[in-house]
Amino acid sequence: MNCPSFSQSPSALAPAAVPGVESPSGVPPQELMRWLERDNQLLQVRLGIASSLFLALRCKSSHTASHSLRVTMLTGAWAAALGLPEEQRDRLEVASLLHDIGKIGVPDHILLKPGPLSPDEAQVMEQYRLLGTEILRPSCKVPEVLDIVHHCAAWYDGSRTGWELRGDAIPLGARMLAIADAYDAMTTEQVYRPAMSPEMALAELYRCSGRQFDPSLVREFAHFQAKNPQQYHRQVLRRWVAELAEHQAAMWGPAECSPVPKADRPWAAFCKRHLETTRTGVIFVDRFLKIFYWNPGAERLTGISADSAEDRLFVPELLHLRDEDGTAIREADFPVQQAIARAEQRYRRVILRTRCGRDLVVDMHAAPVLDSQGVLQGVVVSLSDVSPELSLVARCQSLYEMATRDPLTQVANRAEFDRVHALFVKAHLERRLPCSLILADLDHFKQINDTYGHQAGDEVLKSFAKLLKSSCRAGDVVARYGGEEFVILCPDCDQAAAARRAEHIRRTLAQMPQASLGGKACTASFGVTELQPGDSPQSMLARADRALYKAKEAGRNVVVQLGSGLGACQDVPSQTHDHHPQQGLLVQQWLATPVPPAVAVQKLRGFVADHRVKVLGVHENRAELLVDSSGGFLRRWSDRRNSLVVELSFFQCPQDHGTASSTQVKVQILQRRLRNRRRQELQERARQVLAALKAYLMAGQAGQEAPGPQDPHTSQLQPVAIDRLWETSTKEN
Ligand code: GH3
Ligand code: MG
Ligand code: MG
Repeated sequence: MNCPSFSQSPSALAPAAVPGVESPSGVPPQELMRWLERDNQLLQVRLGIASSLFLALRCKSSHTASHSLRVTMLTGAWAAALGLPEEQRDRLEVASLLHDIGKIGVPDHILLKPGPLSPDEAQVMEQYRLLGTEILRPSCKVPEVLDIVHHCAAWYDGSRTGWELRGDAIPLGARMLAIADAYDAMTTEQVYRPAMSPEMALAELYRCSGRQFDPSLVREFAHFQAKNPQQYHRQVLRRWVAELAEHQAAMWGPAECSPVPKADRPWAAFCKRHLETTRTGVIFVDRFLKIFYWNPGAERLTGISADSAEDRLFVPELLHLRDEDGTAIREADFPVQQAIARAEQRYRRVILRTRCGRDLVVDMHAAPVLDSQGVLQGVVVSLSDVSPELSLVARCQSLYEMATRDPLTQVANRAEFDRVHALFVKAHLERRLPCSLILADLDHFKQINDTYGHQAGDEVLKSFAKLLKSSCRAGDVVARYGGEEFVILCPDCDQAAAARRAEHIRRTLAQMPQASLGGKACTASFGVTELQPGDSPQSMLARADRALYKAKEAGRNVVVQLGSGLGACQDVPSQTHDHHPQQGLLVQQWLATPVPPAVAVQKLRGFVADHRVKVLGVHENRAELLVDSSGGFLRRWSDRRNSLVVELSFFQCPQDHGTASSTQVKVQILQRRLRNRRRQELQERARQVLAALKAYLMAGQAGQEAPGPQDPHTSQLQPVAIDRLWETSTKEN
């Protein structure tokens, strides 16, 4: 027969324990179980920590626990009948009780499976013998107990794989336990077969004797069963629950745990398998750098076979190791050498050259290995290929560049410019730092295309982009804004400096022979502006565009500046009117500008053009405007409900008045809808609009206090009719 204890379903070992009913082997397991569960100190001293382990096994599988108890009774009674010394009997009984303890580690779906086990499941079951010995080893001080537990699965003729002992070399207790174990399993009902009669079970034992079981012990066992085994059962029970010899109490405690031979440990097989299958290169070197293991992963990565690598010294030259910048790794920088010198882990990204001459970027990790005395034994080196990671970074980089670069000229595209420009405007306004824009457009480019062909036109675009890039500082952004129009964003640069730069570019271009144009040069026009208070990215760009338009109007090949920059007017906090009688008034201020009313009105035109302002009406000395409250960051007038109304009243200062100002403007900014809960936000926006107006009108605050209608100061000011001036400026624009 195949011993049911190991090769059949585990339930073969798990008899159904019916409370109060003795099993066919005649052993009353429930009785001993009750004693175990009760606070029986003798039993607990005798079993020590194993009493807890046994109860744990019972929690996991009560069938297995009952089986173990019956087998204990059986071996104990048989040993008593054989007249074995008491100490030997104790060890056999304890080993019998715990021989299945390794099943704690068997997954339930295997342990409790009602049918036959698959080969994989059977292999897991095989492991549990080894696990049982491992569980007991740290607390069992008696090696004989461990030997019995370990060898009770061995076959007498030594034919069972994994058990090296055979015949009488197998401990007597293990040979007895094997017989009792099988007998109890056979005589107990199983899910998949009824219990065998004692006679049938004995016949089976005889049939397997000589191969699986010790033949003389099988005969002894049959003899013992033929007598009256119950008398011995009671003797065993009495000894277990009522007597305690000194040697019994000394069985448990912290055991001297000599290291288990490596091959016995299940994890050794795991480690070996892991080393064989991992894609990581793993290399073991001794403390003199001599390689004694080179795994298949290392073979794959380096192209060097284990045969040729092992026994050689692991030095940087072996793999032609270099830094990421290509510098050869010196011995002092070699992570393996460092790990040996300092007994610390070391990590480095390096390039190695494979046997076939290919360069490979790897992460090299060197971890020192110390023995239990802390003496360095060598280093574990792992090599991980990082090229997939790098190529991903490179792919992301190229995708980013594709998304942000203009393919023809390789400068930033419009989307990228818009993104960066918005960031720059925000940052420069917050820090009150100058920031300028240069907008450049090639002159008569259509004609160039028409005369020399589109291809030649393309060459000119590339050459112009190259000139723009070479004329920039690091940190400037050059972008192709569309067609033959380019933009340069100059952070931390005022308008005057930007205009000088534009002038330099203009002159260089005008003198630069273009090969694609048969050596002729071409020209471009430039609009320059600086960020100013109240600006949005759109208003700044619109102003630069107006400047460029003026440059074209001026005959091309010129630089035109527009705008007053950040420093032109001090942004005096405007007076707010939370308690002002006029409903919805957010901001009111009197502005004074040195320019005459006609110029002031023209400047107002610029504000209207750049800030996407709607003119509601111009009448006598008053202009009423509607301003987008989003600050121009919205591309469309999407939120008109929150727009602001700006009322401007123009006054001329009398010639003989002692002020330098020529024009004064009363500005009132109101919220369009009165029941607006976002008043604070609108007030902030109103201040920005006022700041923008001041910048365009080149105005400052007229006085600390705004004069009221009856104020004598006001009465000296003459209202200026601006409706006609407005009409004229429209034509000019
Ligand atoms: P202006 O001096 O007023 O700027 O005149 P212009 O001819 O340069 O301006 P216009 O807007 O009338 O024409 C621009 C031309 O630029 C028309 C268009 O075919 C050409 N263009 C736009 N993109 C490209 C391009 O990628 N390659 C080439 N070769 N031509 C382009
Ligand atoms: Mg052009
Ligand atoms: Mg153009």
